[in-house]
Amino acid sequence: MPGNVNQLPIGASGSAVLLSMAGLFLFSASLFSQRPPDTIYYNGAIVTMWPAHPVAEAVAIREGRFATVGSNQQVLRTAGPSTARVDLHGRCVLPGLIDSHCHPIMAALGERNSEVPPLHSIADIQAYIRHRDAMLPAGQIILVPHVFVTRLKERRYPTRGELDAAAADRPVIVDNGYAAVLNSAALAKLGISGSTPQPTDGRIVKDTEGRPTGLVLGAPELLAPLRVSPPVTLQDRLWALRTMLHHYNEVGITSIIDRAEGPPGFRAYQALHRQGKLTARCYVTYIINAQGTPAQVRESILRIPFVTGMGDDWYRVGTLKTFLDGGICMGTAYLRKPYGPNTGLYGYHDPKYRGVLRVPEANLVAMAKTADELGWQMTAHTTGGGSTDLLLQAYQAANRENPIRNLRFTVTHGDFPNPHAIQMAKELGVAFDCQPAWIYLDGPAVKDVFGPARMSNFIPLASLFRAGVVVAGGSDHMIGFNPNTSTNPYNPFLGMWIAITRKTVDGTVINPSERLNRRQALRMYTLNAAWLSFDEKKKGSIEPGKLADMVVIDRNYLSCPVDSIKDIQALRTVVGGRVVFDRLN
Ligand SMILES: [Zn+2]
Repeated sequence: MPGNVNQLPIGASGSAVLLSMAGLFLFSASLFSQRPPDTIYYNGAIVTMWPAHPVAEAVAIREGRFATVGSNQQVLRTAGPSTARVDLHGRCVLPGLIDSHCHPIMAALGERNSEVPPLHSIADIQAYIRHRDAMLPAGQIILVPHVFVTRLKERRYPTRGELDAAAADRPVIVDNGYAAVLNSAALAKLGISGSTPQPTDGRIVKDTEGRPTGLVLGAPELLAPLRVSPPVTLQDRLWALRTMLHHYNEVGITSIIDRAEGPPGFRAYQALHRQGKLTARCYVTYIINAQGTPAQVRESILRIPFVTGMGDDWYRVGTLKTFLDGGICMGTAYLRKPYGPNTGLYGYHDPKYRGVLRVPEANLVAMAKTADELGWQMTAHTTGGGSTDLLLQAYQAANRENPIRNLRFTVTHGDFPNPHAIQMAKELGVAFDCQPAWIYLDGPAVKDVFGPARMSNFIPLASLFRAGVVVAGGSDHMIGFNPNTSTNPYNPFLGMWIAITRKTVDGTVINPSERLNRRQALRMYTLNAAWLSFDEKKKGSIEPGKLADMVVIDRNYLSCPVDSIKDIQALRTVVGGRVVFDRLN
């Protein structure tokens, strides 16, 4: 065994000599920890996020963990004959980045057969439909997924006529999971005409002459025959997960929180982990629909044979989650008050409409109490202020019976927390999982819908920080491989840049008072995201003893011009000391 008794601190060797079996174990463990490091990175500008030592020149890695962190001299003197040395030539290093909200399997499967290009306009949608029309066998449905009206130049949905112009001979559905636009062949396939009665769970939008425009809101059962996707096997999921994690590694991501899986997804994570092929650490969210009676919700949770925390540093059972409302991209976020007069963007006008609430309040309370009782961390997808308030009230109800603080309950998205909601979150120890990209992509379109009073609460990152609420950064990446143009973009440097500048696609700035500084933005994607998975003592910063997850980047994060933060490129990504992505040399 390498090492030398003389290198041991006096206390350690002394106690080892004096004590019996337990002491001997201590002695050998101490010897072990004195092995020289496997690798030393030196001559760097290392942003550690370690309060005791915020900037360092060098870091040593041993057995997959950070050993010494400090000056070149302090770290290089720990080198042994077999230690690999990497000269960083002044390059910047950050702790490994953590995406607190993504859907890697769905994202990769979405482009398994055909790349979906960025769709910024109705002309882009038509071009994509023509492209698919030329490729697919006759009669096969063309489904254009994840089309959000807030991201279309026209800020309206296409009409059936515009879809017919691209492909008239087969059914076409332009979809975002809530709203869908159908071409004439798709309407005919479903038997929808001007005389079709309105479904109870949605609306067939009609023109002034009573003819369907092609837009259908909600009505999931009516639309189900058009939303069929090919069966997905375990092998498909393994391919998707492995491929997507490599893409994540290319932008410096070393850990993810997958925000929605059922049993097949969990099996994929377990299988890839057993094969030793995970290249990022994965904390996986279990999704339930929380429908039926409150007693049935409780039963459905009792049937899940594990709880938060099962697993290891590579794969762990994460949060229990449900979907409480829809989204700002399709006008289904559940608000505190009616949307008001400016909803034309979403294809309807209704003075009383507040959005879609998918889970009854009593079910949500039952879910929170059961999660609390069993030791599940809980979260729910809430985008509107109304749903965020309901979620916090459910957490409060659970908290009255049994404190929830240690379980770190979370708000997923929470796009409009007002000061009262922020205060409640602070008091309950509830964290936020936020998506800065929506400020950039959707801010310009939604600001007219929601109006200035509501927009003052739009993703208020600085207010959350000031209140002492833990807020993590995530992408909600759900389709595509491109880090900057997929839906939603998963490049964490883009996310940090948005959190710092609050700039939008049209060049405006939304709520400059809610800007974060660079260290706060980095914290969202490191220590705070680690806190969400109970891992802040293991990762999220570069400090001795923590897992050796880090990324070497091509410019200095703290001092580069602010608008170049979004262009930062990862040069080498390291997880547990192992290089998982490399273009350093
Ligand atoms: Zn999501």
